[in-house]
Amino acid sequence: LNEKYLKQQEERESNARSYPRRIPIAIEEAEGIFVKDANGKTYIDCLAGAGTLALGHNHPVVIEAIEKVLHDKRPLHTLDLTTPVKEEFVSEVFDSLPAELAQKAKIQFCGPTGGDAIEAAIKLVKTATGRSTILSFQGGYHGATHGTMALSGNLGPKQHVQGLMPDVHFMPYPYAYRCPFGVGGDETHRISAQYIENLLNDPESGILKPAAMILEVVQGEGGSIPAPVEWLREIRRITKEHDIPLIIDEVQTGIGRTGELFAFQHADIIPDVVVLSKAIGGSLPLSVVIYDRELDQWGPGAHIGTFRGNQMAMAAGTATLKYIKENNLSQHAAELGEKLMLELSVFQNEITEIGDVRGRGLMVGAEIVDSRIPAGLKGTYKANPELASRIQRECFNRGLILEVGGRHGSVVRFLPPLIITENQLDEVISIFKDAVRAAL
Ligand code: PMP
Repeated sequence: LNEKYLKQQEERESNARSYPRRIPIAIEEAEGIFVKDANGKTYIDCLAGAGTLALGHNHPVVIEAIEKVLHDKRPLHTLDLTTPVKEEFVSEVFDSLPAELAQKAKIQFCGPTGGDAIEAAIKLVKTATGRSTILSFQGGYHGATHGTMALSGNLGPKQHVQGLMPDVHFMPYPYAYRCPFGVGGDETHRISAQYIENLLNDPESGILKPAAMILEVVQGEGGSIPAPVEWLREIRRITKEHDIPLIIDEVQTGIGRTGELFAFQHADIIPDVVVLSKAIGGSLPLSVVIYDRELDQWGPGAHIGTFRGNQMAMAAGTATLKYIKENNLSQHAAELGEKLMLELSVFQNEITEIGDVRGRGLMVGAEIVDSRIPAGLKGTYKANPELASRIQRECFNRGLILEVGGRHGSVVRFLPPLIITENQLDEVISIFKDAVRAAL
């Protein structure tokens, strides 16, 4: 059956499809951390909709919330007109923010994707500042529209599309394993912050005063790279001193995944703009921008569109947020993430092709290398996307779905639902180890 579906997919679907190529599966059913394919084989899903499924598939509280919308005869579509479901969602989101941000925050509902919300954030800051330049980061990922693709770092598809949004400059992200300054360790983030500050202080830098800086606290698609807390604090200080709005893209990191409800909370900083999508819709499409009301200088209609505020997604999102807070799933993600990284680090001692293990909470990556070919810093080796793909395939054959990403396509990424239990995580680790040995 799987084969039949996959053949039809091959014939009918676009050449641009991506995940289906790496994960050749037709999913018929799903529950919790598991999906079942058309042949009845079960897989553990550690891709989880690229980090969307915080509560896994079809969690009872999510299903209940969706059924309630239907049962109560709530409207399914209202553009972005107010409804009780929307009011409850907004209150839940505001209650979840750090008080200092909640007090001054405004919220804008965006189209159903993370990319649309990033577009909104960029228009917001450009309007408020009257400036155009955006500072983004090498390896960052913010979406696939003309604007968000322009903001994204070293990803292949960009080079084939002419005329992306102009005036984006890429700053060095504190990626210590492949340090952009060739030093590594803590020096990487110190020099990165110093470099950015020097650049902003230099009237001859060649870069016009930015409308914003945008970053992920843990780069997701870029390869599960966590930014050190000290660096984030420095970036917040520098952007504040230079009056540059700081946009934190929490599309993937948000809602508990990294061990805090919002990843910026690790550094105790308050951003000017926060972008949320993926998990905030409780499995359904939803995205929002939350920002300091001082920036609220755009006019009516500045960011419009038909589908902004899917009622079922709001209900599912409210239920998800409540469940995460009530069950302290952020803490759970922090603890299991520590365990996962520790075990992968021990395994790294045995397998020289695992060049780096890193992450924060349940957003973890293992960078796969060719240990025969040194690259850059001492102890750093050439990225090995072929081996990473083979590992992904061996995991898949053993019933484990994982994502492969990173700047060079060489990072095996673990993004399990936050509800994963310790025993289930042990099984994930065990399958991964077998798969690595088989792929070598
Ligand atoms: N920002 C980040 C950090 C993301 O991880 C993603 C999606 N992977 C996006 C933005 C874009 O979201 P979407 O695919 O829903 O447009």
